[in-house]
Order: sequence, then structure tokens, then C-alpha cells
Amino acid sequence: MGHELYCAGHLIQAGVALARATGDTSLLAVGRRFADLVDESLGSDDRMDTDGHPEIELALVELYRQTAASRYLKLADTLTARRGSGIFAGGRFDLSYYQDAEPVRDARSIAGHAVRALYLAAGVTDLYAETGDKALLASMLRQWDDLTAAKTYLTGGVGSRHHGEAIGDPYELPPDRAYCETCAAIASIMWNWRLLLVTGESRFADLLERTLYNGFLSGLSLDGASFFYTNPLQSRNGERRHRWHPVACCPPNIMRLLASLHHYLATTTDGGVQLHQYATSTIRAVVPVAGPVELAVETDYPWSGSVTVEVVACGDAEWTLSLRVPGWARGAVVDGRPVAPGYAELTRRWRPGDRVVLELDVSPRLTAPNPRIDAVRGCVAIERGPVVYCFEAGDLPAGANLADVALQTDTAPADSGPLAPPLGGLPGVSVAGVARDLDGWAQIEYVDVRDAPRDGAPTRVQLLAIPYFAWANRGDGGMRVWLPKSE
Ligand SMILES: [Zn+2]
Repeated sequence: MGHELYCAGHLIQAGVALARATGDTSLLAVGRRFADLVDESLGSDDRMDTDGHPEIELALVELYRQTAASRYLKLADTLTARRGSGIFAGGRFDLSYYQDAEPVRDARSIAGHAVRALYLAAGVTDLYAETGDKALLASMLRQWDDLTAAKTYLTGGVGSRHHGEAIGDPYELPPDRAYCETCAAIASIMWNWRLLLVTGESRFADLLERTLYNGFLSGLSLDGASFFYTNPLQSRNGERRHRWHPVACCPPNIMRLLASLHHYLATTTDGGVQLHQYATSTIRAVVPVAGPVELAVETDYPWSGSVTVEVVACGDAEWTLSLRVPGWARGAVVDGRPVAPGYAELTRRWRPGDRVVLELDVSPRLTAPNPRIDAVRGCVAIERGPVVYCFEAGDLPAGANLADVALQTDTAPADSGPLAPPLGGLPGVSVAGVARDLDGWAQIEYVDVRDAPRDGAPTRVQLLAIPYFAWANRGDGGMRVWLPKSE
């Protein structure tokens, strides 16, 4: 029920990564011996067990890719297929915590411990990629629809409950009690990447982006030296990232994702190159119809929405350059021509020196939540491009209380220029609001709605918002992503 095979999975992945990056196979050999032991211990149906904390599934599929030894793929399938048979009955938590309440192929929703559920989903998607078992993909798409329709925070964070570190009920998304473990964000990024690979659909790259810039990145301090385990969207008294955690999954997981971030930028198909995430980079690929292709991407994304792609080298044949237009983008253009969210596909006989410019409007915007989310009904948040913003108590006008301010939605939020150190360079956003004087409410009390309101007259204020991921870098104080709309 614990983390033994989860740790084995990370060890195996580390061995594969080391071998691919450096050619050193010493750690791969250790991981392989471990995988062999797991196969000998659990692979046959004499012992109907599986892992209590998924992660080894995606490691076993990767080990199969690295070694071509089919026993690892079969073991991943065996461990997956046994779920849903009540193996973990009698544990500290119910069966859904361990993804053991129903068979993976039958699941209609996603539930239980968020990190466990999302690592399993990533592993199952890998299994589909190698086996083509359509029931696995169908289950993954049902679970993804359930997760994104009703169980994902604005930041891309997953996990509404501290109890059981669990995904909550539909629309149970409290900003203050959010668990949103950094590892759950990373697991979601891994899962969405795999779904993108097997479907080619931009919605998976969209959620990957949302999670990357927000629910994942908030896990790390701006100086790179301290870490959040949980990533709430509201804090009344402020939080401090810690330099280490007794359960030390998140800090090295952040390092792993940052160290492998370049792998998430682009893919190839037989007919072209697809750019999914935008960063200044050189991209080299072999496109079967056109031979070696080299692209130079130049951008200040996500702070600017302008992305320039130059073809540095390519063959003579026609091929397709696909640029992702994020779902949040309105009025996007490629070389001056309007393009809709999804992939803008540019098919031509490219020549070295050809340039394409994608323009995305990243001006700040107000975002409303689904009205079924009780905890933030009547609130709005600010986003700028793919970046979610928040308000910190220390930025409020003198005398205002973060618990008592509201946003005016009749004027658009606007860029307010670069923020001061330690947030130097990040764009701030200014928005009109009101601060109320709630001194008339001396204590928590519940009053007859027919009585006269006790709020003092609201005062107009100008509020400053900063990127959510950068919160808790300037000392203590409360933080909110969602603020009520002023009446
Ligand atoms: Zn973690």
C-alpha cells in the first residue's frame, strides 16, 4: 500500500534517463534488476497484488522502450489490469484512494489520491501508446473529461481535499483548502503530454501550459531554493515555501521537470513539425517527407504574445509547420491572418530564411468561474495570456483588508509595468476595485437579511495583481486568486 513500487518506478526512470543522456548504463542495470525482481514477485497470477502508489507503470513502459524486453510492458499491463478487484480492502483509506474501486478499463470518472490517480493515468496512456488497446484510451478520455469539466482549479492544480490528498467531488474546488500538490501538477503535465502524443489534440497542450505556468511553477520560489508541497489559491495569513520536506517527493520532481522541459516544446509527424509550447529555442528534427529541419524560435512568451519562427534549414519537399493557438487566445493572427484556437497549419515548400510570426493577445482579462463551484461563486480572477494572477495583502492600499476588497468588472484590467524586485521584470496588472469597511460586523454573526446592511460606504481603490506563481516571495501576508465582484 505504500511507496515501494513508486520509488522503484522513479529509480527505473532515472536509469533510463541517464542512459539516454550520457550512455552510462550502470543505473539502468540496477533498475532492470529491480524490475526483474518485481516481475518474478508479482508478475504471475499466483500472487494477485499490485502497487499501492502508481508510478512504476510508466517506468516499466519506458524500460520496455529502452530495452525492447516485452516482459516489462506485460508487467505494466498486469499491474494495471488487477486494479478494481479490491486488493486494498482494509487499508487506511477507501478503495478509490488506491484506484482500486473499479477496473481501469471501466472507469467513468477520476477519483482518489490525486498523485496516484494521475501517475496511473500517465502510465495507462503509455500502455495504450504501445499496445493500441482502445479500451484504455476510451477510459483515459472519459477520466480527462471528468477532471477538466469539474475537478480542476484555474491554476491547473488538482486535489481539493487534504484528507486523502484527494480529488474531490465535482465542483468541490475551495481555493483556501485546495491541496493541489506540486507532484499532482507534474503528474498532470506528464499525462497531458502523453494524451497529446496519442491524439494530437491541442486541448491537452492547453492544459499542460496552464498547469506549467501556474499550479506547477508556484511550487518553486523565485530564487529556486524553497518549495511548496501544496498550492492553494487563497491564503489568509500567508505561507512560506520550505527548503525541504519530510516527504521529499516535490522538490526533486520540480528539478526533473525543469531539467526535461525542452522535451515538451515540439513534436514531429511524417509530414511536419508541431510547436506546442513557446520558448526561445533551436529545434532540430527529421521530418520523413522533408529530411532534417532546423527552426529558430524567438519569443518573450508568456510575457509577450509574439512568437517568431525562422526556418534555418530544411529539404526541398513540401511539409507542414503547425503552431498551437491556445484556447484562451482571442484574435490570434499568423502573419497578419486570423487563426482559430487549435493548430494553425502552414503547408508549403519552405526555404531557409523563411519566417513566420504568431501574434497572441496577452492583454489582461477577467475570468469567471463555473457557477456550480460554490466556493468562488460571484468571484472573478485575472489572467494574462496563460498566466493566472493573484492579489497579495502587501500590495493593497493602506487600510484595506484582503478579506474585504472586491473587483469592478466594468473596466478592463491593464498592464501596470514591471514589478519591483524581487519580482523585477514580471508585468504587474492594475484593476479597479472597492474596499469596504466591515467594522460594523464586530464578530461572526448571522443576521436577518431584512435588517439594514452594516457595511460602511465602499471606497474606490486601485488594486495590483502579480503572477500567481510569484506569490509568497516577499514575506508574509494573505493571498487570493479569486475576488468577489463588486455590486
Ligand atoms: Zn510531491
